[in-house]
Amino acid sequence: MRLAVLKERRAGETRVAATPETAKKLATLGCHVAVEAGAGLASGFTDAAYAEAGAEICTDAAATLFGAGVVLKVRAPLGAGEGEVDELALMHRGALLVGTLEAGANPGRAEAYAAMGLEACAMELLPRTTRAQSMDILSSQANLAGYRAVIEAAGAFDRGFPMLMTAAGTIPAANVFIMGAGVAGLQAIATGRRLGGRVSATDVRPAAKEEIKSLGASFVGYEDEESKNAQTAGGYAKQLSADFYAKQADVVAAHIAKQDIVVTTALVQGRKAPTLVTQAMVDSMKPGSVIVDIAADAGGNCAATRPGELFITPNGVKILGYTNWPGRICAAASALYARNLLTFITTFWDKEAQAPKLPEGDDIVQGVTLTRAGAVIHPSLTATKAA
Ligand code: NAD
Repeated sequence: MRLAVLKERRAGETRVAATPETAKKLATLGCHVAVEAGAGLASGFTDAAYAEAGAEICTDAAATLFGAGVVLKVRAPLGAGEGEVDELALMHRGALLVGTLEAGANPGRAEAYAAMGLEACAMELLPRTTRAQSMDILSSQANLAGYRAVIEAAGAFDRGFPMLMTAAGTIPAANVFIMGAGVAGLQAIATGRRLGGRVSATDVRPAAKEEIKSLGASFVGYEDEESKNAQTAGGYAKQLSADFYAKQADVVAAHIAKQDIVVTTALVQGRKAPTLVTQAMVDSMKPGSVIVDIAADAGGNCAATRPGELFITPNGVKILGYTNWPGRICAAASALYARNLLTFITTFWDKEAQAPKLPEGDDIVQGVTLTRAGAVIHPSLTATKAA
């Protein structure tokens, strides 16, 4: 079975879907691994390292994809008119495509996969179950994003995180506030604490409160009857009422005015990120304060965020609104992402057929499969179409 690993061509993407470590393991499994030249360079993995791991290095996308039954990607392959190469058109009918395909937000993408006869698996739709944990790209990438956000906040902050006692006087510890305590937020809390900051955090899910406290941060937030049911069966935050958000904002506003660092990570699945930091809150912050908006990819949690940019407000607040936070720590992000995909392929590897076989009744397979045998089959996409 030939397995192709392409160079990522979408703007700003620095990660790669297989590393020399996983390429070696895929080869041991029985794959002939074909890697496009330069695919891992942005993440620090050379062609020589892939070759040493047993991979074939191919000059371009066409040569890499030629005859490939499996294609591993970080982001969705480029389609017609999306860039220099129409990667999709180069894929083979019936090939298994695995990546972060974001078909829900990109109408027409799943239909294109179906038209190409691909078995397309969107790994961001993986169920958050214990069995799926080691394939969970959202968790692995969010964890690193949370870490990186705090490190970049520390770099942008012109004071320091820990209390510094010197003969020349004392510098107080930084007040660090983490908004959203999911995977990214919990790692941000841990990182902020390790650096010596005075850390507080908020979330709407009741379970998050205990997690925040167990990491040694203080909880700041608004709770009522509505927030007792703020979590979906899948563990995600629900969209809450305008009244709840207004009350939450009242509680948070006074706190934010005293913060040096605010890291926002709040997401509501399938929707634009909620605005948690209003313009008035930004205006209330001291000059030199830093806001890091990890939710910038989903529109941002801060009203003043300019997605993709570092913006300094007229009152001197630095807002780091960069997108693709995992891509800002790409060697580690690629290593974990590649292991997530390796686990997926290994879990569904059929030894006799020497190929991955995805059982239709499996909950993981049902969770991620967008298209099969020329049709769009994922319930989230077929339901949208029917509505
Ligand atoms: P996410 O990225 O969807 O959202 C980040 C956080 O933002 C969440 O904690 C959410 O509650 C919070 N949020 C949303 N609206 C908010 C608001 N108005 N104010 C403050 N915070 C707000 O979340 P995630 O990191 O993907 O985690 C989602 C859930 O999945 C969690 O319960 C997590 O424990 C769970 N999880 C389970 C597994 C597993 O069991 N395999 C793996 C990973 C995550």
